[in-house]
Amino acid sequence: MTVLIAGAGIGGLTLALSLQDKQIPFRIFEAVAEVAPLGVGINLQPHAVRELTEMGLADRLNSLGIRTKEVAYFSRQGGYIWAEPRGRYAGYNWPQYSVHRGKLQLMLLEALKERVGDDVVETGRRVHSSHDFHDGVEVVFADGLRERGQLCIAADGIHSALRAQYVPGEGAPHWGGTIMWRGTTISEPFLSGATMAMAGRKDQKFVVYPIEILPDGRQVINWIADLSKPAEYLWNREDWNRQGQLSDFLPLFADWTFNWLDIPALIRGAETVYEYPMVDRNPLDRWTFGRTGLLGDAAHAMYPIGSNGASQAILDARVLTRCLMDHGTAPAALKEYESIRREAVNRIVLANRGDGPDKILDEVATLAPDGFAQISDVLGEDALADVAGQYKTIAGFDVESLNARPSLVG
Ligand SMILES: Cc1cc2nc3c(=O)[nH]c(=O)nc-3n(C[C@H](O)[C@H](O)[C@H](O)COP(=O)(O)OP(=O)(O)OC[C@H]3O[C@@H](n4cnc5c(N)ncnc54)[C@H](O)[C@@H]3O)c2cc1C
Repeated sequence: MTVLIAGAGIGGLTLALSLQDKQIPFRIFEAVAEVAPLGVGINLQPHAVRELTEMGLADRLNSLGIRTKEVAYFSRQGGYIWAEPRGRYAGYNWPQYSVHRGKLQLMLLEALKERVGDDVVETGRRVHSSHDFHDGVEVVFADGLRERGQLCIAADGIHSALRAQYVPGEGAPHWGGTIMWRGTTISEPFLSGATMAMAGRKDQKFVVYPIEILPDGRQVINWIADLSKPAEYLWNREDWNRQGQLSDFLPLFADWTFNWLDIPALIRGAETVYEYPMVDRNPLDRWTFGRTGLLGDAAHAMYPIGSNGASQAILDARVLTRCLMDHGTAPAALKEYESIRREAVNRIVLANRGDGPDKILDEVATLAPDGFAQISDVLGEDALADVAGQYKTIAGFDVESLNARPSLVG
């Protein structure tokens, strides 16, 4: 009956919590010896917040992050282009949260420990491969030990060992030409105090949003500086914790001092800066390999453009739970999960390559490269709404459908 989960990241932990809730036996293996709060900010969309709420995690989530009020777009000169409400402010029944990725992971881990026991996650156990036998699956670890179960779920992230086993020869992730420098800075609130702001255009962009309110009223502000680089650029292997150098990108943002935010000051104020190439994985034509199925980044690593990677991993976990309830811990459950999720998520991966929701920045930058007095001189309200609306349908951000649909798991 046991489901063997490889990886205790956002996807693996959500799956474990969800299976525990439905009394489906599982074991969860994590490669690192101790789960540490790594990463910087991420966003949880209302469709994912709904799932965490149904799992009884709403209060924890609320104390962890900031309810995102709006997404606002600005030109490279800081001129206001467009803003639209998010989460509850947009009519969803659930908020959108901006949170620290590592704190979210630890919150899920703590909840799982409370519900199951302190040693629920088997750490220091790096999964190497999986092999079916007549009525089960055997997972082999890097140290040669083996464990048996009914199904194996690869939730082991963008460098998934299990994906590499079943999709041999795929190699390194796909790089689209952008390097991101990411950091957090303690600073005064800007704009609404809960705005995700994006300025610039595809080849040079700055994304910034708060992820935590401090007792003194200041905020932990998460930011990402994107720069396009030529194909021959020697980017470092994607490691979420690689230290970055200010001198590699700050000079290019030196005059981005706007009346709503001093970007160079924010960058200079960061405690640590990370460098990461914007990579994803090519969409796959299958996620199920006998008794092993892919989930989260192992199935569909995507550019962090539409703020959707963690949210989609959470949705995977919940849909899979439903399928296991309907079909039992059998390959048919994996097939059903794949048929519901794969094509839909592959479309998001590809939409993010095409700039996702940030397309509006490029449109305006092309029409008014030197800035504008007011945005209505460049694009009308209808045209702006049209560009902004295209991505939402693909990414399942449609308010009415989310509010109206029944619970995934029940
Ligand atoms: C350290 C780290 C920092 C990150 N920081 C950011 C960030 O700042 N911004 C952002 O947008 N996204 C970040 N991400 C990615 C983001 O968490 C994922 O895109 C998203 O949450 C999907 O979650 P996932 O569970 O599929 O993968 P992940 O959250 O990446 O989790 C995968 C887990 O599997 C474990 N693992 C890997 N290989 C094995 C193996 N062979 N056997 C067992 N366990 C294994 C990993 O240690 C990790 O705990 C980060 C990921 C990691 C691992």
